[in-house]
Amino acid sequence: MSLSLSLRVSIAKLSSFERETMSHSSVPRQKLMRRCRQKKEEEEPLGGDMEDLFSEKETQKIRESLLDWYDDNQRDLPWRKKSSESEKERRAYEVWVSEIMLQQTRVQTVMEYYKRWMHKWPTIYDLAQASLEEVNEMWAGLGYYRRARFLLEGAKMVVAGKEGFPNQASSLMKVKGIGEYTAGAIASIAFNEAVPVVDGNVIRVLARLKAISANPKDRLTIKNFWKLAAQLVDPLRPGDFNQSLMELGATLCSVSKPSCSTCPVSSQCRAYSENRTIPVTDYPTKVVKAKPRHDFCCVCVLEILNHEKNQRGGRFVLVKRPEGGLLAGLWEFPSVILNEEANLETRRNAMDLYLKEEFHVEPKETCAIVSRKELGEFVHIFTHIRRKIYVELLVLQLTGGTDDLFKGQAKDALTWKCVDSDVLSTMGLTSAVRKVYLMVEAHKKGLSVAAPVSSNITATSRKRRST
Ligand code: SF4
Repeated sequence: MSLSLSLRVSIAKLSSFERETMSHSSVPRQKLMRRCRQKKEEEEPLGGDMEDLFSEKETQKIRESLLDWYDDNQRDLPWRKKSSESEKERRAYEVWVSEIMLQQTRVQTVMEYYKRWMHKWPTIYDLAQASLEEVNEMWAGLGYYRRARFLLEGAKMVVAGKEGFPNQASSLMKVKGIGEYTAGAIASIAFNEAVPVVDGNVIRVLARLKAISANPKDRLTIKNFWKLAAQLVDPLRPGDFNQSLMELGATLCSVSKPSCSTCPVSSQCRAYSENRTIPVTDYPTKVVKAKPRHDFCCVCVLEILNHEKNQRGGRFVLVKRPEGGLLAGLWEFPSVILNEEANLETRRNAMDLYLKEEFHVEPKETCAIVSRKELGEFVHIFTHIRRKIYVELLVLQLTGGTDDLFKGQAKDALTWKCVDSDVLSTMGLTSAVRKVYLMVEAHKKGLSVAAPVSSNITATSRKRRST
């Protein structure tokens, strides 16, 4: 190959930035190439294949195609509705609630939660009056209870302010619990501001449209996804456009089985049209997740009988978790975390010590044990913890009923309450606590206690809408 031809081929392989730099310079080629590479590494050390934005023509085509497709194919969801000018604040509240819920789980699950929530607190002013206890109960089962708390605190903040509902992404991000994604969703959908949104579905679609192989969890790569999404967002219909991008990711452009042949943007999709030897599902690059920490927990469902008060059934002790950390402020049965797998005797010793220290209950000494039964075990997975939970039912007879519990206990210690089975069956409980109680109910009905299927409360980084 002649020198001039080889130079032309090399130039053709360069990025637009590199080509532009070369055409305006008289610096020797080697030096120039080195400078280009240095510049590129400084700018995008890990997202190096993303330097090109969409062309003007591609942008127009993607907008038109996606909006047309969305108009005809969008799913009928309770939080999707047109609103008049005077209803914008209400619409913003609805988008906010639905978006926070959608960060937790699948659309189908969210629909029921959303309807119940809106029935109880139809406006932000209603929500601002609620207690954390009520909000937690309503949220029970969705996981990531901190988000529910932030929603409540954010509502109180907006209502307490004098300027009404913030109507721009930049001001929305000052509200507790509203990050860049939620701010973009509210501002574009409710207030028609042309700002982008980037969640897991949008990343998947963009990574495939541009055949981006950079690590999608990398900070700089994420920044570049925001740039691409900002370039695409339609200035006239930003809310619909953002929803159409997310809708495409949730439906046609799914993680493992994309329907490329019916996709409205297949002709702009590099992963689909350019290199058929690499499956489109290779985009975005899969990132190996950190392994969850393993721990072990013994749970004692403490049922107190009080024959003197002629009760039909017993009452169950619930303990409130501390206000910080995992499942903050939520109710659970008395439980003890163990550092390692333990046999029955060790688990019971740990539980007896806990009951003695926290409740002044000493089985065999201060009360009569009616029955004590191991009900089984199951695994519950939180985002970063794989917890094995051992469940036992301890039925006690106290002379003074539950009044004897906590006698002499220090004032600021554990918060607890006793509830009967009717209340327990209907109150909002976290999914792990609910599973424990289902084991108790099955045992009482004489059914064999099947260990619940292990569950997974994960919804990190906008892993939503993959229905
Ligand atoms: S063509 Fe396929 S991979 Fe590309 S955006 Fe459409 S569904 Fe996704």
